[in-house]
Amino acid sequence: MKINKAYKFRLEPNAEQAVILNNLVGSARFVWNQMLAISFEMFAKNEFINATNLVNKIMDLKSNPDFAFLKSSSNAVTLQQKVRDLASAWSRFFDPKVHARLKENKNKPYKPKLFKLADGTEIQLRPLMPQFKRKADGHDSIRLVQFDKYCRVEGNRIKLPNGVGLVKFRKSQDIIGVIKNITISKKSGHWYVSFGTERELAEKPVHPSKTAIGLDLGITKLITTSNGETIKPKNSFKANQIKLAKLQRQLSRKVLFSQNWKKQKHKIQKLHHHIANIRHDYLHKITTSISKNHAMIACEDLKVANMSTSASGSMENKGRQVKAKSGLNKSILDQGWGMMVNMLEYKQQWQGGLLIKVNPRYTSQTCFNCQHIAKENRQTQAKFECVQCGYKANADINAARNILSAGHAVLSAEGGCSQGHPMKQKTSDIREKVA
Ligand SMILES: [Zn+2]
Repeated sequence: MKINKAYKFRLEPNAEQAVILNNLVGSARFVWNQMLAISFEMFAKNEFINATNLVNKIMDLKSNPDFAFLKSSSNAVTLQQKVRDLASAWSRFFDPKVHARLKENKNKPYKPKLFKLADGTEIQLRPLMPQFKRKADGHDSIRLVQFDKYCRVEGNRIKLPNGVGLVKFRKSQDIIGVIKNITISKKSGHWYVSFGTERELAEKPVHPSKTAIGLDLGITKLITTSNGETIKPKNSFKANQIKLAKLQRQLSRKVLFSQNWKKQKHKIQKLHHHIANIRHDYLHKITTSISKNHAMIACEDLKVANMSTSASGSMENKGRQVKAKSGLNKSILDQGWGMMVNMLEYKQQWQGGLLIKVNPRYTSQTCFNCQHIAKENRQTQAKFECVQCGYKANADINAARNILSAGHAVLSAEGGCSQGHPMKQKTSDIREKVA
């Protein structure tokens, strides 16, 4: 069994190194934008857009005398990787499944944008099409593959190509496994290095625990477990939101694109970044602890929950609650839940445990005691009282217990837990179609 893991650290280049790195990410961004313009032309002519086609066109850019800087201050491998990323972005655009998901999530009216082709005609840019990157976005990155060929790690320093040399990074933990690739990124003025590693395990790991747990995901309580424990969300967002609003008000009073405006914009990006980091770290802590302690974790299948249009799903209630309660952006919360489930999924794989995603339908209305399903069972957001058997419980704990038993049902339907992981997740998808 192969395990892939990424290790991300702060990178601390000196002033000279930062200049070279800035040139490298800048030229990669430039090539992305040039290739995107070229691919819009190809799109208009119904030409096939794939990685090979696009990679072959890099040479044309490099031999263009106007773009001579690409010869001196770019890295061939990273340019190729950038163009491959562009090709993947196009293939996502061409994937009908991704579009199907978009339609369900769309809640803002779409304002059409246009791109002018070389012959003067315009094409309309559609949702999910790859987009132009701007320096002002405050986020740039390059990826190097074939690590051994171009780089090496010496203690807490990494040797990078293009004359960058040895760069210090804040090595907060050991890198385990074979380093396959690295991503150098710059976000809100800070540099980062992420090592993509691969490790071969002779045997599938055996999870140290034998217990199973069901998780109900929510807003006020981020997680309620079938054991009755609750985990609160990190309220970094709320506290920082006041700060953010203040910064945004100040921005609106500045002259557009002036130096002060840019400074202010940078402050806002930095705060966004800070908020995201806090949330990310917190989710890592929670998911590591749950994954370590439970061999089987059952939670709601968020994809099914988002696509469900019935008024009965527990996610629907949460959606309404979000709007009514805090004015927090639901998509941000969705993203947080998605990220959390994702973390649980790969951490369970590393530990030899299981994550089972169950159909979220009726988990909040079903009585855990007698399985009676009724809207009336759920008297308030917090209270559950079964109209049939009188079973009383906290509504979230009742839901978490239902989720756990749905998880057990998925397992027994597949004949134990000796099967591979992907099987388990497919089962819940199939069930949704049948239901
Ligand atoms: Zn009951």
